[in-house]
Amino acid sequence: MQRAHKVALDPTNVQATGLARAAGCARFAYNWALARWNAQYQARLSDSSLPAPSQYALRRELNQVKRDEFPWMLESTKCAPQEAIIALGAAFGNFFAGRAARPSFKKKGASRESFRLSVGQFLVDGDRIRVPKVGWIRMREQLRWPGARPVSVTISRRAGRWFAAVQCEIPDNFIAPTVASDAGGAESSVGVDVGVRECVVSDGTRHQVPRHLRAAQRRLKRAQQALARKARGSRNRAEARAKVASLHARVADARSDWLHKMTTGLAEQHDRVVIEDLNVSGMTKNRHLALSIADASFGEFRRQLTYKTPAHGTMLVVADRWYPSSKLCSGCGAKTKRPLLLQMRTWTCESCGAVHDRDLNAARNLAAYDPAASSAVAACGELFASDDDALSLSRGLDEPGTEHHDELKLI
Ligand SMILES: [Zn+2]
Repeated sequence: MQRAHKVALDPTNVQATGLARAAGCARFAYNWALARWNAQYQARLSDSSLPAPSQYALRRELNQVKRDEFPWMLESTKCAPQEAIIALGAAFGNFFAGRAARPSFKKKGASRESFRLSVGQFLVDGDRIRVPKVGWIRMREQLRWPGARPVSVTISRRAGRWFAAVQCEIPDNFIAPTVASDAGGAESSVGVDVGVRECVVSDGTRHQVPRHLRAAQRRLKRAQQALARKARGSRNRAEARAKVASLHARVADARSDWLHKMTTGLAEQHDRVVIEDLNVSGMTKNRHLALSIADASFGEFRRQLTYKTPAHGTMLVVADRWYPSSKLCSGCGAKTKRPLLLQMRTWTCESCGAVHDRDLNAARNLAAYDPAASSAVAACGELFASDDDALSLSRGLDEPGTEHHDELKLI
């Protein structure tokens, strides 16, 4: 996953001049390459044996001529003009695909002063960033994700101030740093068990699927069945399809609203949120599940948490796929040996005798999940792949008519 953090810079006067010069080179190279592109395109109309314009060829061409024609470019990093021409190639790609207007010239003053550097062309170290031929520039703050790999940076000037938008590659299991709690209290870690009728948080909070959403889901299901009965090509079928589409949109909106309230609360109120890594892509291979929208809910839930948690300085931890959250006793830590069928809502630990609400117990185990301890588990995942949870989960999902299966169709 990639995320960008835009940080204000504190360049010295000399450095600011260097940044402006690099941005000038980028703009010049973009305009030069665009003019060349247009000329080569025109020339090719009358002589089709000429090569089509490309950003690769234009970058090579600029490298060959700049020493003689644009010697002032040598004062700045060669990366800025190169990246500008790559961006021109991408802009033409978007234009040809119908996603954007034809690239136009960047006017001095009218367009934003900026340039881009790719991985390997810059360095970030704590609260400073190194730009070639400009040097180490102080940043107003450190990157939000220490240890994450910066993959590109766009440096730009807005209202007289320079900014660096650093794009970082964040591993899926990445633990974002927690902002030191204002209250100085104990860190709060919660686990969330995402179910079909409700989401259960380890602190005991239960978020039920709202009634109006379930009602809309039932109407959608009926409309889908009605659509399946209509003759192909008939006007009735077209009407039924329009009804399904409108109900589908209503369900998606209601579900999104409900999930937004929940994910915002989780991101705001806790230092660490642990969720499961459900194998959503594997689940959609199941014919019945592909028809349901349960997987869409989980994907949306995870997506919202992923982008909301960094903004609140909250860690999002995705538990290892083979972490047996539902089979561990959250009281004594023992793992139950008995099969835990999905319709069993409570179970008793054979070691300590504790009676567990299945979902709350799973949420509590997630809250206590330790990613460092489980990396050993991931390393020998083969062992666990043939084990319980994953199999019992898919087995349960494969059986149409079970309570769980019917429930899954609801969300
Ligand atoms: Zn126990």
